[in-house]
Amino acid sequence: MTVDSRIRSVPTDQIAATAAEVDREARFPTESIAALRAAGLLGIGLDETYGGPGGGPTEVVAVVESVAGACASTGMIFTMHVVATQTLVAGTDGPADGVKADVLRAIAAGDHLATLAYSERGSRSHFWAQVSRAIADGDGVIVSADKSWVTSAGHADSYVIASGAPGSDDPTTTELYLIDARAPGIEVLGGFDGLGMRGNASSPVAFRGVSIAPERRIGGAATGFGLMMSATLPWFVLCSAATSVGIAGAAIAAASAHVTGARFEHLGSSLADIPGVRARIAEAKIRHMQARALLYEVAAEVASGGAGAQLGVLALKAAAAEMAIYVTDQAMRACGGAAFSRHLGLERQFRDARAASVMAPTTDVLHDLLGKALTGQDLF
Ligand SMILES: Cc1cc2nc3c(=O)[nH]c(=O)nc-3n(C[C@H](O)[C@H](O)[C@H](O)COP(=O)(O)OP(=O)(O)OC[C@H]3O[C@@H](n4cnc5c(N)ncnc54)[C@H](O)[C@@H]3O)c2cc1C
Repeated sequence: MTVDSRIRSVPTDQIAATAAEVDREARFPTESIAALRAAGLLGIGLDETYGGPGGGPTEVVAVVESVAGACASTGMIFTMHVVATQTLVAGTDGPADGVKADVLRAIAAGDHLATLAYSERGSRSHFWAQVSRAIADGDGVIVSADKSWVTSAGHADSYVIASGAPGSDDPTTTELYLIDARAPGIEVLGGFDGLGMRGNASSPVAFRGVSIAPERRIGGAATGFGLMMSATLPWFVLCSAATSVGIAGAAIAAASAHVTGARFEHLGSSLADIPGVRARIAEAKIRHMQARALLYEVAAEVASGGAGAQLGVLALKAAAAEMAIYVTDQAMRACGGAAFSRHLGLERQFRDARAASVMAPTTDVLHDLLGKALTGQDLF
């Protein structure tokens, strides 16, 4: 199956079918992940070296956008899976690189779900800084860390985890490791009962004296920060923005359908006959189209390593996150009291849209980093 046909085969109807229930019960969307697995999409972005279907940033964001439009929680889980996978690719020396290559082959085959465990209780949203510190243990390390939010906690097959590099006390001198979710010393601390993305199982996870063999280090010694900036950040920005664009697109579709069908019987007209209602939806659509255009432009820049990639990466996630907050707010207002009811799905999209803004790097931090880049200052 070609990459293009895989993109067209995103099982959006299956994923959308359980989205409301997943949100209501704050439960992991097991059926949706199984549907992505069956469609051969867990390996998208992995090339044939690992047995994957291929696809670069543009193809991957197209899939994430479709998935998130159907169920934002599933979009978030898929995002973290793709970002962990691409970070692993960046720190793996090809198909002969032992367990890391084995895991990439398992991902390509659809047999493995990965996620990212960066954020720590001590450094909060500053994911590039780690307060935990790995301890050298022979050729390997032992990691103890309090991770504050881990999407797919207790459901993923492996965690791509960050920790301070052994022997350094600098919070940005870090290493990344691939940890098997069944390794002794890992405890998922409770479920997730959040405002939005309620099915993404984003829980605190305690890693207590987890022993990590040397072949599970991703990249070279003390290369964590570099991998975060060169691999994790661009892929996370792209997929997070695609999630925001997907949510906003679904909200505009739901609002348009509602205002077209909702009738004032005494006037013989619909909500869509009110110019102010139409204007709200039009303004929302303009913002959505702008962010969507930026998404695909930055994806192309990242794919080609173009000159605009760095500024695009710093701008995109904030632009898309704030757009989705604006769009879902406009959609709620256009639909009035009906939008407060769960049946339109808009109140869910309104809640889901808010997560991207506070996910690291947050909108505030990205505005600061972009401002620094534009004024010639060091970013960190
Ligand atoms: C649904 C969800 C899923 C998540 N999944 C994962 C995951 O899979 N893996 C993972 O590692 N993490 C994950 N996170 C964590 C996320 O990336 C952030 O680390 C977390 O949301 C930060 O929350 P906090 O309360 O610690 O924010 P804080 O750091 O306390 O920030 C509070 C406020 O201060 C602002 N602020 C902080 N620093 C600055 C600054 N330097 N300049 C300007 N403003 C600043 C922030 O913008 C924010 O508005 C997830 C979060 C959510 C909400």
